[in-house]
Amino acid sequence: MNVPVNLLDKPVKQNLLGMTLQDLEVFFTKSGEKAFRASQVMKWLHQHLAADFDEMTNISKTLRETLKQVASIDAPEIVFDQTSSDGTRKWVMQIDGGNKIETVYIPESGRGTLCISSQVGCALDCSFCSTARQGFSRNLTSAEIVAQVWMASRLLGSNSREDRKITNVVLMGMGEPLLNYDNVLKAITIFMHDNAYGLSKRRVTLSTSGVLPKLDLLGQDTNVALAVSLHAVTDKIRDSLVPVNKKYPLKDLMASCRQYINNQSAKTHITFEYVMLDGVNDSRDDAVKLVKLLKGITAKVNLIPFNPFPDSGYECSPMPVIKEFKEILMKSGLIATIRKTRGEDIDAACGQLVGKVEDKSRRERKFENPRYGMK
Ligand code: SAH
Repeated sequence: MNVPVNLLDKPVKQNLLGMTLQDLEVFFTKSGEKAFRASQVMKWLHQHLAADFDEMTNISKTLRETLKQVASIDAPEIVFDQTSSDGTRKWVMQIDGGNKIETVYIPESGRGTLCISSQVGCALDCSFCSTARQGFSRNLTSAEIVAQVWMASRLLGSNSREDRKITNVVLMGMGEPLLNYDNVLKAITIFMHDNAYGLSKRRVTLSTSGVLPKLDLLGQDTNVALAVSLHAVTDKIRDSLVPVNKKYPLKDLMASCRQYINNQSAKTHITFEYVMLDGVNDSRDDAVKLVKLLKGITAKVNLIPFNPFPDSGYECSPMPVIKEFKEILMKSGLIATIRKTRGEDIDAACGQLVGKVEDKSRRERKFENPRYGMK
């Protein structure tokens, strides 16, 4: 095998956790090994959750020794592991000197959902989200995204397909997944691959605020379930809640959503997330406008009670208001649910994921900076 070197002449080990089958095949064939090693190693990594090359017993000892020189199975260190009174479990993972990310496991009867992060912090600056307050530091690598599922599977003892604890993965943690497109796509590919986690397209959900060119691309590249953080029915209000709306307004967002559904061969729907903010977006008129906006789209609406955090400036709509809002949607034929808040006592609920972020974005004008992929 050729050993790649860095400037200090130390071997640069490639972290295999973030590699798709195709990447692994390139990795092995470039090194003069047979391509089928790729699927063997992929199964060891993601089905058996191997943390050490020595566990890979159908691989020769010589190859295992070489792999130790050139490759790694590198997961972030868990620095915090807490379980909520409702069973929700939150991990904080240290990914480098200054940065931490959060991953949340939500068990329900018959299913277990892992909510993972795609970036360290977030550049989108949604006014009701505490992750936004932390600013943006960097994109996660594909290995760091996949490692959250790998690590959680190990810690939950979920290493057999029969007794799978993680049945669903949602990209709804820290970050905007479509602003880290390539790494997120690789991770999704691994989640869905038969040699890895084998999750069906309905069991992997990407949540986005609506970064349109990338949303259109996603519809061509994959068919994962889509959740769109809508939160408002007029551009004026959405501009103030989800500032990326200034660049990609509602009319264009809805057109892209229609296109996403059209791209899918099988019947599919989009989940629209709508955070309920007292006196901001929760009137009867808003509900009626929402029905109109979603006309012609196979949609489910998920009403999210706002999770408060210090100095947010917002209050959650009262439950009767949320219920009435839901009723208006249901009467018009839309499927609407009210999201049950989970893990509140350990700050694991939506918008409460803050990790610890080394903010590198504050000094720059966010939406015009090519670093965030917004231009
Ligand atoms: N950037 C992506 C994914 C991360 S946010 C997106 O915008 O979809 C995941 C969901 O939590 C989004 O719908 C987001 O709007 C919602 N959310 C953020 N802060 C919240 C809060 N304080 N209370 C309730 N939901 C919140």
